[in-house]
Amino acid sequence: MLFPFPGHGHLIPTADMARAFSERGVRITIVTTPLNVPTLRRTIGKSSHSIEFLTIKFPSAEAGLPEGCENTESIPSPSLIPVFFMATTKLQPQLEHLLLQHHPHCLIASAFFPWASHSAAKFNIPRLLFHGTGVFAMCASECLRLYQPQTNLSSDSDLFVIPHLPGNIQMTRMMLPENDGEAKFAELLKAIKESEDASLGVIVNSFYELEQVYADYYEKLRGRKAWFVGPLSLCNQQQDRGKRGKEASVDEGDILKWMDSKKANTVVYVCFGSIANFSESQLREIAKGLEDSGQDFIWVVRRSDKEWLPEGFERRTEGRGMIIWGWAPQLLILNHRAVGAFVTHCGWNSTLEAVSAGVPMMTWPVSAEQFYNGKLVTEILEIGVPVGVKKWTRIVGDSVGGEALEKALKRIMVGEEAETIRNRAHKLSEMARTAVERNGSSYCSLTDLIQRLQSIARLQNCPKSSE
Ligand code: UDP
Repeated sequence: MLFPFPGHGHLIPTADMARAFSERGVRITIVTTPLNVPTLRRTIGKSSHSIEFLTIKFPSAEAGLPEGCENTESIPSPSLIPVFFMATTKLQPQLEHLLLQHHPHCLIASAFFPWASHSAAKFNIPRLLFHGTGVFAMCASECLRLYQPQTNLSSDSDLFVIPHLPGNIQMTRMMLPENDGEAKFAELLKAIKESEDASLGVIVNSFYELEQVYADYYEKLRGRKAWFVGPLSLCNQQQDRGKRGKEASVDEGDILKWMDSKKANTVVYVCFGSIANFSESQLREIAKGLEDSGQDFIWVVRRSDKEWLPEGFERRTEGRGMIIWGWAPQLLILNHRAVGAFVTHCGWNSTLEAVSAGVPMMTWPVSAEQFYNGKLVTEILEIGVPVGVKKWTRIVGDSVGGEALEKALKRIMVGEEAETIRNRAHKLSEMARTAVERNGSSYCSLTDLIQRLQSIARLQNCPKSSE
């Protein structure tokens, strides 16, 4: 039974995970709220008939959220994010009712539902956590929690090294989650750690070769087993890549035709995931940077009004630039040979999708664990360059001038350094593909997990068998 957090960044990899299990003969049930079912079905595609859905009611109105607010994307203002998180805790009785009724062999629930470990334990069901992030970020955040290097600094911009984390990773307090929510955030982190201790382990959408040092370190640090089964998005073939998450705001044929007309590695793809947003002045700076860089581009803007666009921008960039107003078929775009770089907020799914497609990144982290992911990309894997943002913000990204963007774009697109980065990115993409192929590391890790669950089921003398 899969129980994802209701945000696109969790629903999309959960849909892929459902497919990965299902292709190995495992029966899958996904528990979610009604408005999130279409997203999951669209992403799972034709195999969705073999996957069962069970719906529970999201207590939007009770929690003080607008009716129909069942996904992080529809939270009307950043101040309501904690309210949304609180609302998810009210799902516990409904989940327990389903666990009692269906008694699955295993519950894979989002790490944001720490209480799900208690629920699963009540019915003697093993629980796995899905953080939705890579293991480097999991280790970095755990080292900060344990060793607190961010306290006793004279200013928010002082650099400190994350203690005990391999790689000499330097951060500033500005790159960490905002102070105002700190107490609540620390509470949530603590609850997650406790629920992890009470679980069978974690399932990670990453592959061992990508984060090897941190994969080994995590098991030592946390004393929990981690199964690396990704990149999960690689279960999608060309025909599935345009149908992930929401309905794309652009015709698949049109965008493919546009990209087909471009030379290899000449288009910059700019997208900041499903939640991050920017002020109008920042959007104008992005427009300026894209225009002045002279590069071809596809820019995803999550709004429908155009008044903020610099005068004449669309006319001047006609033919070389395309704006997608709303939702882009990201996986389709990233896997097209025309795309030479990805300007990303470093959400883990976007990061891993770029790694899998062999696309170099320009990192523009905004919130959540994205600053860690940015460090992984630029300093450890060396497949990207930073745009230079310094401050973690809740949803609305830190500002960057058009000139800085233009400079970073040229650096990632042209010249010797760009070529070296591109070669590294291609090698990693090959490794990603090998990991999910038969007998690859992720394939074997999934086999190991399934066998582990089967042996637990046998021990519990449960007659149901999964593979
Ligand atoms: N995505 C997409 N089209 C868009 C924006 C996002 O297909 O226009 C997908 C993207 O491919 C990824 C997910 O939505 O799978 C976003 O997850 P990520 O972890 O990158 O960021 P989040 O939205 O959670 O901040």
